[in-house]
Amino acid sequence: MTQKLIYEGKAKKIFETSNPNELMMEYKDSLTAFNALKKGEFSGKGQLNCQISTHLFKLLSKNKIPHHWIRTENKNQMVVVKTKIIPLEVVVRNIIAGSLAKKLGIEEGRALKKPLVELYYKDDALGDPFVSDDQAFEFGWAQPDQLQQMKKLALTINEILTPSFAEVGLKVVDFKLEFGLDPSGVLVLADEISPDCMRLWDMQTNEKMDKDRFRRDLGNIEGAYKQVLERIERIQV
Ligand code: ADP
Ligand code: UDP
Repeated sequence: MTQKLIYEGKAKKIFETSNPNELMMEYKDSLTAFNALKKGEFSGKGQLNCQISTHLFKLLSKNKIPHHWIRTENKNQMVVVKTKIIPLEVVVRNIIAGSLAKKLGIEEGRALKKPLVELYYKDDALGDPFVSDDQAFEFGWAQPDQLQQMKKLALTINEILTPSFAEVGLKVVDFKLEFGLDPSGVLVLADEISPDCMRLWDMQTNEKMDKDRFRRDLGNIEGAYKQVLERIERIQV
C-alpha cells in the first residue's frame, strides 16, 4: 500500500497510514549537524538508529514510561502514535559537554552535582534557542502542568537509561527528548532516542560513541553506532 509522505525532516520521513491515529516513521541514512549546515550520510544509519530507538522504547515500556512507539515493521520504519508535538526540546545533562561547556567556557567532562533539565524552542530558523518555563508558557508552547510533567518524565527516563547503559559500559552524558499529545490529549514521549540525539562515552576510555564523531570529524561514525546497538541489545527489555 502506498503511503502518503506528510513530512520530511533532517533525519526522518513521516508517512500517513490507514489508521488516522498512527504514523509511519522512516529513519533516513542522512546525518546533519549545526542546524543542517553540515551534512553527511552512511548506508545503514537509518536502520541502526531505528533499531536502537526500538530497543530503548521497549526498555521504557518495561518501566511504564508513556511513549508513542507501537511497533517496528521494517529495519528502518516504525509505527508510532500520531501526536501533536510540543515544540520544545527537553535536554537532560549528567556531564558537562556540548553547548553548555561552550556557553560557559568550561572544559567538557565534569559530572554535574545533579542532572540538569533544559528547554529549547524547536525552531530551526532561530537555531533552537534556550528558553525558560515562563517563556514556554507565555508563547503558548506548553501549559505549566505539561512542563512539570515533561521535566519529571525526562528525569525518570534519565534514571532508567543511565544505569542500563552503565551495565554495557556506556556513560549517558546528555540527551534530547521530544514530547507530544496523543489523540486523547495524554502527554507521551515521541520522536527517537538514538546516538543522533544523545552523547554516549565509553565508560573505560571516554571515547565518543555518538553524533559528536560526525560533528567533530572524529571518523568511524558507523563503527560507533554499530557498537552502541550491539551493546544496548544486551540490556534486558
Ligand atoms: P527535524 O524535523 O528536526 O528535521 P526529523 O527528521 O527527525 O527532525 O523529523 C521527525 C519529525 O517528526 C520531527 O519534527 C518530530 O518532532 C516529529 N515527530 C516525532 N514523533 C512524532 C509523533 N509521534 N507524532 C507527530 N510528529 C512526530
Ligand atoms: N540535541 C539534539 N538536537 C538538537 C540539539 C541537541 O538531539 O537540536 C542533543 C545533542 O545530541 C546532545 C544534547 O541534545 O546529546 C545536548 O546538546 P547541546 O545543547 O550540548 O547542543 P550541541 O552542542 O550538541 O548542539
